[in-house]
Amino acid sequence: MIDDLIKISTLLQENKAVFISLSVVFGLMIGSFLNVVIYRLPQMMRREWENNCLELQGQPITDIKQYSLVKPRSACPHCGHMISALENIPVLSYLILEGKCRACKGLISARYPLIEGLTGILFGFIGWKFGYSNSALFAVIFTSALITLTFIDFDTQLLPDDITLPLLWLGLVFNLNTGFTNIESAILGAVAGYLVLWCIYWIFKLVTGKEGMGYGDFKLLAAIGAWFGWQLLPAVILLSSLLGAVVGIGLIVLMKRGREIPIPFGPFLAIGGITALFFSSQLTNLYLN
Ligand SMILES: [Zn+2]
Repeated sequence: MIDDLIKISTLLQENKAVFISLSVVFGLMIGSFLNVVIYRLPQMMRREWENNCLELQGQPITDIKQYSLVKPRSACPHCGHMISALENIPVLSYLILEGKCRACKGLISARYPLIEGLTGILFGFIGWKFGYSNSALFAVIFTSALITLTFIDFDTQLLPDDITLPLLWLGLVFNLNTGFTNIESAILGAVAGYLVLWCIYWIFKLVTGKEGMGYGDFKLLAAIGAWFGWQLLPAVILLSSLLGAVVGIGLIVLMKRGREIPIPFGPFLAIGGITALFFSSQLTNLYLN
């Protein structure tokens, strides 16, 4: 048994193509799970708030149906048809079913296979960049968290503490021995990441009277600082702000979207974070030069 494990381990170390392919398949499966988290976590948070409110008012909690990441099983939102394991194969099931529910032919959102595909591709890149290593394992956790945060922020304009805070701590722990940076840079990165956006938030609020972003954004940048160190923060902030500005102006000009509709900043920070994961050395050189 242990011999077999050692054999598999050497195979993955020596044969990069096999490791990358396995990473993609693993990513597709994790992507399927991230879809569930993206859909359910905001609803779980809403239920908790509602129950807290009822409790404060001294009213009995009526909504006691169990609702978590694993229960109840996934069902079609149109007809309630329970989704079987065969209908739940990442990307493939969507293509075979032609994007429709098997029971009622109701349309299934193309976002599900897209998130699965995106996770698969990013995991493949991680396998290619980091190989069979400790860093690869941490990198897939980091990437999964950022994908989840991106889409939750997109849907609800919230970045749940349940994800941002553990992500921050995990970054610090990862950098305790060997990680992407040393522990001093990581701790300073976490503090600076939070403070920079906190300052921008208050200056913006005092000048314009509006809230430009939320506290979740500070925590996300703190987490990115904890993973890569303070040195990478300027590049991440610059990249996210540029992207945010381009997309924001694009939405207003092309889609005739109102100026006053807020655009979540989290997805752009997440893109900055993922860029830092793959191109940390290039980003550091970019602004040092
Ligand atoms: Zn259906």
